[in-house]
Amino acid sequence: MNIRLLGTGAADGIPGFFGNDSVSRYARAHGGKDIRTRTAALVDGVLKIDFPPDTLMQSQRDSLDPLDWTGLIFTHSDDDHVAVNELQYALFPFTDLDHLPYTIYANRQVCEEILTRYPDWPIEIFESKSFDGFVHGPYKVMPIKATHIEDEDCHNLIIEKDGKVMLYATDTGIWPAVTFEFLKNYRLDLLVIECTDGFNESVYNGHLNIQAVIKVVNILRAEGILHEKSRVVTTHHGHHGDANHQDLINAFAPHQIEPGFDGMLIEI
Ligand SMILES: [Zn+2]
Repeated sequence: MNIRLLGTGAADGIPGFFGNDSVSRYARAHGGKDIRTRTAALVDGVLKIDFPPDTLMQSQRDSLDPLDWTGLIFTHSDDDHVAVNELQYALFPFTDLDHLPYTIYANRQVCEEILTRYPDWPIEIFESKSFDGFVHGPYKVMPIKATHIEDEDCHNLIIEKDGKVMLYATDTGIWPAVTFEFLKNYRLDLLVIECTDGFNESVYNGHLNIQAVIKVVNILRAEGILHEKSRVVTTHHGHHGDANHQDLINAFAPHQIEPGFDGMLIEI
């Protein structure tokens, strides 16, 4: 199984859309791995996670064909993960398709948003709930509860295939006890974990900074949920975190954590 990190930036990307902070200025000047589009990923080229406003550009950049997707899983309803208006380009008059060529899995808020926007479309859409797993082709998917928006069932996603297990954990603060407890049932080969706040503290508890990522990873290692060969890769970096890509490499290297970057392909 592999996962491609299509975007590794937080809500307004890096450089920030209208950002005039040091991280944004550095990224504009240097490019490369310091450029981060909105967070999304693709498993084995077929299972798409989230649909941000940068999806077209990410597909063009990495020579991907969205017609290869068989499933689209949403983690939650924030605008950097759900560009509902972009979905219209899948169908007539933009294509000659008469149905959406992939199945959608989404929580209640995202289902409502899609079905309100496209009430007459033939869409295969299923409501996902935390701790209520589903099977999509060869994949076992288990949404688990993230700490992100108080009145919404925001998901992190455990994805299993061929005996390999990954946890894709974007847009979460420190998980609730029920999630940590649930994770004891798993042995992860890969953890992709968000690091929105970089070096900084945030008043919002729905994201992680570098120290919090290290804390969570240490708990998972102590519990045996992460094993010796598990890889840990970060995503969803914000420009307010005061961390360039090299700063993240330096901060995480002693902890065997790899900063993710746009286009990164991880095989497990
Ligand atoms: Zn986000």
